[in-house]
This record gives sequence, C-alpha cells and structure tokens, in this order.
Amino acid sequence: MLTIALPNKGRLSEKSLELFERAGLKAEFTSQRALVAALGPDFEAIFVRAADIPEFVADGAAQAGVTGADLVAESARDVTELLDLEFGRCRLVVAVPEGSDVGEPSQVPPGSRVATSFPRLTSSWFESLGVPVEIAPVSGSAEIAPHLGVADVIVDLVSTGSTLRVNHLREVGTVMTSTARLIGNGAAAEDPVRRQQLDEVVAALESVLRAQRKRYLMANVPRARLDEVKAVIPGISGPTIVEVADGGAWVAAHAVVDEDRVFQTIARLKALGAEGILVTRIERLMP
Ligand code: AMP
Repeated sequence: MLTIALPNKGRLSEKSLELFERAGLKAEFTSQRALVAALGPDFEAIFVRAADIPEFVADGAAQAGVTGADLVAESARDVTELLDLEFGRCRLVVAVPEGSDVGEPSQVPPGSRVATSFPRLTSSWFESLGVPVEIAPVSGSAEIAPHLGVADVIVDLVSTGSTLRVNHLREVGTVMTSTARLIGNGAAAEDPVRRQQLDEVVAALESVLRAQRKRYLMANVPRARLDEVKAVIPGISGPTIVEVADGGAWVAAHAVVDEDRVFQTIARLKALGAEGILVTRIERLMP
C-alpha cells in the first residue's frame, strides 16, 4: 500500500481531492471523521495539515503528499518534487504600509521587524539581499502586524492582492511564487516497487492536468478541403478523419486542440466551410 498525505482542510484540500478523483483515485472514506481513506485498491490517503505534509513525507509516514511549494520550501525537509499540480497559485511577497518610503526590498531599513509565518524563507531571503532584519514569527494574519505596531514590514502569501489593499499595505517584492506540488519521499523514489507506484500516480495526475488545457474538436468538413483542414487542426499526430454515412462530399475531422486556440480554430474551420462543429472537454489525456 502506498500512502499519500493530503491536506485535511484549507485552500488546497478540496482541489486535491477533486484532482485525485478526476485521475481515477477517488477517496473512499470509511467513517464520518476519517483521517484515512482508500484511494483505489493500491493507495491510501491520510489527511493532515498542509504545513505538516513535508514532515510526514520526509519521515516516511507517507511516501507521497500534496502541499504548497511555499510550505515545502519553508519546511526545508528533504523531499523530492514529483509534479507541479498547477492549482493553489500564490506568491509570497514583501509588503510595507502604503505611506512607507520603501520602494523595493533592498530599501528596507536594517533592523526592521518583519512579521511572517514563513520565518525561515524570509530570513534567508533578506540575508541574501544583505539586509539584516528581525523576524517576528506569526502563525497567520501577518497583515495586521504593522497596524499593531509590532512590525514594519510583512512577508505573506497573496493571490489577488486584495487583502493587502484592504489593509493599506503595498507590495514591494516577491520572495517566491508557489503552486501545489506532489512531493515524494526520497527513499521511496529509489525503491523500484515504490518508484513504479509513484510513477503511476504521477502519470494519472499528469493526464488530468494535460487534458485540462485541451479540448476535443469535431467538425464535418468538405472532403475537397481536407488538406487545408489538416493544416488548421494538426491534432496530436494529425486529425482523425472519419467517413460520414452517406456523407458524399463531407467527412468528419476530429482533433485535440489547445484550449486557448479553440476560438481561432473554429473561425478558420468555418472559413473552410465546416459544419456541425462540436467542442468537448477531455477527462484525461495520455499521449
Ligand atoms: P491553508 O493554510 O491550509 O489554507 O493552506 C495554505 C496554503 O495554500 C499556502 O501555504 C499555499 O500553498 C496555498 N495558497 C494558495 N493560495 C493562497 C492564498 N491566496 N493565501 C494563502 N495561501 C494560499
């Protein structure tokens, strides 16, 4: 059995479960407040705090886990990154009160107090800038620290930046950008049996991520313009061309296209006389 640690609550929890379910690994809870669930026949999930996941994976309590890249970096634990899961995108930023003279991080006055729940990343980042600061560790809501007079600067996570604005803070630099990651235990990644299991999980999750960015497009196109159609929808290894029953002058062309090219592709196909254009989502894609 391979154990995968997933966030039990918070911003990454629901999306993690959703991604595993779409990859064919639906968490089956055996009781109401279960801390453990089956993930298909070969894997099990344990549910713990996102911040503790690097620890559980490094210790080998779980062979893999899902948590934010920020938390992995802050933990400084020795884990292997297996896959960028692309959700939970946020940035760890340096912010100062709106009225401050500081325009960039190097202008933070030496000896400033920096409130953050990322003390390790923050102190090494300021150190690399050559700016000596004093860290005021908080476990959340760093944005109120300047108003309470307990810090001059904060280092906190943002996605839209609206929390900073509401608190009259101004961003002056980025320590790191983060997304959710699948991480693995180093020893497990070197064990052949474990490695194969980890590869299976990676392949399944990757197939969902890949499919997310693609659409399946079908259209009836004039047989006479097939060469031009092939140029418009190259597909993974060329479009699939299917005979339409009693189609005569028509054939059906099917292809996987990039999500962001769907609009343009439809316009081009229409210009070639295409009809009956259908675009659908793809659940999983393994080339
Ligand atoms: P939690 O505290 O359990 O909600 O999880 C926090 C983790 O979610 C962070 O460490 C990030 O990896 C991720 N995250 C994604 N977007 C944000 C955001 N806007 N603010 C805070 N955390 C975020």
